[in-house]
Amino acid sequence: MTSRPDPKTSLDLLRSEIERRNPAEPEFHQAAREVLDTLAPVLAARPEYAEPGLVARLVEPERQILFRVPWQDDQGRVHVNRGFRIEYNSALGPYKGGLRFHPSVNLGIIKFLGFEQIFKNALTGLGIGGGKGGSDFDPQGRSDSEVMRFCQSFMTELHRHIGEYTDVPAGDIGVGAREIGYLFGQYRRITNRWEGGVLTGKSAGWGGSLIRPEATGYGNVLFAEAMLRERGEDLEGQTAVVSGSGNVAIYTIQKLTALGANPVTCSDSGGYVVDEKGIDLELLRRIKEVERGRVSDYAERRGASARFVPDGRVWDVPADVALPSATQNELNAADAATLVRNGVKAVSEGANMPTTPEAVDLLQQAGVAFGPGKAANAGGVAVSALEMTQNAARTSWKADQVEDELARIMTDIHTTCAETAERYGAPGDYVTGANIAGFERVADAMLAQGVI
Ligand code: NDP
Repeated sequence: MTSRPDPKTSLDLLRSEIERRNPAEPEFHQAAREVLDTLAPVLAARPEYAEPGLVARLVEPERQILFRVPWQDDQGRVHVNRGFRIEYNSALGPYKGGLRFHPSVNLGIIKFLGFEQIFKNALTGLGIGGGKGGSDFDPQGRSDSEVMRFCQSFMTELHRHIGEYTDVPAGDIGVGAREIGYLFGQYRRITNRWEGGVLTGKSAGWGGSLIRPEATGYGNVLFAEAMLRERGEDLEGQTAVVSGSGNVAIYTIQKLTALGANPVTCSDSGGYVVDEKGIDLELLRRIKEVERGRVSDYAERRGASARFVPDGRVWDVPADVALPSATQNELNAADAATLVRNGVKAVSEGANMPTTPEAVDLLQQAGVAFGPGKAANAGGVAVSALEMTQNAARTSWKADQVEDELARIMTDIHTTCAETAERYGAPGDYVTGANIAGFERVADAMLAQGVI
């Protein structure tokens, strides 16, 4: 009889295999490593999960779709972008995950996001599988007509692969209500179906859910507060640093203010703003959502309390709580050391994988409460799933009802992560708790459904 390698050895082998078979995809390697590194205790405790092939199937997307997206700009010039949809895992429900339009998008980035999404969606408990998509199209500086033509061309291919029971995209970086509108319009035109549940993040007047725009930011703040409460504190009176100035950052700032904290920063790829009086959300929203401007415009118009620091590190600003809400790997080990030196108590990820592995280690070793994006930013996809529920029932819920449900889901996710971490001998380690709890739900469904 040949003996099976112990779980840690087989996970290490799988890690090497992933790197060999998916070359030049560093973000995907990072996301896979971060999960695999925490699974040894659960594979040891639950032998059924050590079944050969279970984890190997989990790290391989069920389907990867790559396509050409040609479109014409306002001068009639033709551009050719690349479109992606990674349908990662549908054991728990239809693939679900956003679309990202950003020039940095490539296969490895979409795979890392899709992989993370599997566990995040499982944590919501709402019956949604994991997927992600997007394009290397850069919407910045493009007119509405150009964005519309791009979205129409993108959907002309994507429509073959999605559907309310198959795959349900939503927004992400560079994809907000405007883009979802153009994408839905083209889907409806091509298919001749008013299929509300095929996309989430729709506007409230035609099938969208109230609180969906707010959900990711609100949910992350609720998660940060739940972590602080474990330590006998709350957000009242705490200074917060927030990065980004898009959908997630804006509603993070709004909820922080509502709970009595003082969010003093926001940022974009040009630099950050620090505002001693606290960010004026109305001004920021006007600049970002109406004028599609930059955070430097905010500093110019806000007056003496605010200054713009071009190319600076937002994490240099002293704070009690940090909520990275822009993009992957935006908070590195040096930033984490600065935050710790300045007395940070909690870091909660609004963005996906914004904290590098070295920075996560450093924060956890310093005793900082750390909320991984899989758990902390799951409020967005949770309310997307509630949008699908409302579409299926041809109804729309009141804002209070959606917000209560969001709060309940975030509390459940926090409790699940904390209890799972405790059960596997890592109390207070939300990374281990989120990975194992998400994994158990997906693995149970995969085992029940056979080798497919
Ligand atoms: P938006 O496009 O609305 O905003 C993104 C913000 O991040 C902008 O301020 C942008 O600045 C900044 N940013 C993006 N890329 C970079 C970069 N490479 N360097 C510096 N700044 C950058 O996106 P969202 O707010 O929707 O998403 C933010 C993060 O949250 C992403 O990681 C996303 O995956 C994650 N997330 C989003 C959810 C949602 O519901 N929207 C759900 C869960 C997670 P600039 O304009 O200069 O590019």
